[in-house]
Amino acid sequence: MSDPKDFTHFGLDPQLLAAITEMGYTTPTPIQAKAIPVVLRGGDVMGAAQTGTGKTAGFGLPMLQRLMPHANPSMSPARHPVRGLILAPTRELADQVADNLKKYASKSQLRVAVVYGGVDMKPQTEALRRGCEVVIATPGRLLDHIEQKNTNLSQVQIVVLDEADRMLDMGFLPDISRILNFLPKERQSLMFSATFSEEIKKLAANFLRDPQLIEVARRNATADNVKQEVYKLHESEKTDALLEILRTRGPDGGRLTQVLVFVNAKIECRRLARQLQKAGVNADAIHGDKTQDERMKALEGFKSGAIEVLVATDVAARGLDIVELPVVINYDVPFQSEDYVHRIGRTGRAGASGLTIMLMTGSDERSVAAIERLTKQSFEMQTLSGIDRAQPRPERDRGERHGRGERSGRGSRGERGDRGDRGDRGDRGVRTESTRPAPARQPVDDLFTKPYEPAAREPTTPGADVPPSETSAERRPGRVSALLGGRKK
Ligand code: AMP
Repeated sequence: MSDPKDFTHFGLDPQLLAAITEMGYTTPTPIQAKAIPVVLRGGDVMGAAQTGTGKTAGFGLPMLQRLMPHANPSMSPARHPVRGLILAPTRELADQVADNLKKYASKSQLRVAVVYGGVDMKPQTEALRRGCEVVIATPGRLLDHIEQKNTNLSQVQIVVLDEADRMLDMGFLPDISRILNFLPKERQSLMFSATFSEEIKKLAANFLRDPQLIEVARRNATADNVKQEVYKLHESEKTDALLEILRTRGPDGGRLTQVLVFVNAKIECRRLARQLQKAGVNADAIHGDKTQDERMKALEGFKSGAIEVLVATDVAARGLDIVELPVVINYDVPFQSEDYVHRIGRTGRAGASGLTIMLMTGSDERSVAAIERLTKQSFEMQTLSGIDRAQPRPERDRGERHGRGERSGRGSRGERGDRGDRGDRGDRGVRTESTRPAPARQPVDDLFTKPYEPAAREPTTPGADVPPSETSAERRPGRVSALLGGRKK
């Protein structure tokens, strides 16, 4: 007898079931419960879900199931054409998705390969040339392989755009458009996005055919487990405040370990990590200017516990499978309020309790108000007692920071744009075990328990946050349809 609460009722192949059982999957997550049957039937899907909801298995398992009839033991590459393609914005996400897909397929004869930039093409070329039914790729590197005729996409039956919003943010639209032109017109298309800007809707309209919209609560409905604190202080007090938090907010009032600290800009990331190190904290920075090796090193250190505090920018942290962190700190208030949701989604997963602390200054008021609007809550501003507030130094306002060029010039996603950062780095995702602070309950924020509500994506400080040089697809309405002409209903 199959139980609708477990994976048996989907009719998945025993090889796939055995693999996920080994991985410890017993109960489908909400996105899996909704998406798997639709994808198995061959329907297109527009999925409103973030990383952390289990969306990878939501599309990966039914994709593999649909490709199972093609599984074969032949050594001939011709018998293993690419039939499933997954495009991801960053190499971290590509790697993470590939890790999962490889595990799901591990007991079958389906082959899975991953390609992303920033690393040697040769091993990827060999994997592609040997033949593989499923390819996970960042767009730029996939195009390189297509140009070099290392792969052929003419037999793709299913294509997935994962984290489509980020792909648009990162300027991948032209690359995606080129890739889609290599695919058969008759195919199944799936798209996952955490947010629904007008551009995403246009992309969906062009890319998907009669899609079923599948929404799940943001981030596993965990906000009731995440205590959200906001401290208002002067810019000059922020580093001391952070040190105080790191010193006192761990279990039993002790040191915090396994903390992800978000900042808005690469330069700030470097500066803060250095300052923390000088203060005796085992900290490291992860941002888009770091080499693959440096990022790997920082992540592995964080995973092993050698690094207690990882200072990160949004782009660098995106897609990393860092799960179940006890504490996430917003050292900077994110300029895009949706980034707040992404950032705090790093804690309090899977029913575990979490704490998120945000430091705000007077110049962050508009951004904080936008976050409150988006998350339908009002923060209670708190003050930190431990730091010396007797002689606050003059506040550095945000304009001044911009004037000194401390932020890279592309809004809160200051790292996108150059090819080096667009999915061209592929550190292996890390998993962390952690101690947790005492659970502190917060009134349930219905944002996390309701299906996703589309929200217009507006800069929280217009003008200042989006410099005139902005060239992302997000800022160019109308280009999506022009670039993606081939998939009209
Ligand atoms: P994802 O949102 O796909 O990145 O998944 C987030 C994490 O949840 C990954 O570590 C998955 O391996 C894990 N996961 C996904 N589905 C399940 C499930 N049904 N049961 C347990 N863990 C899961």
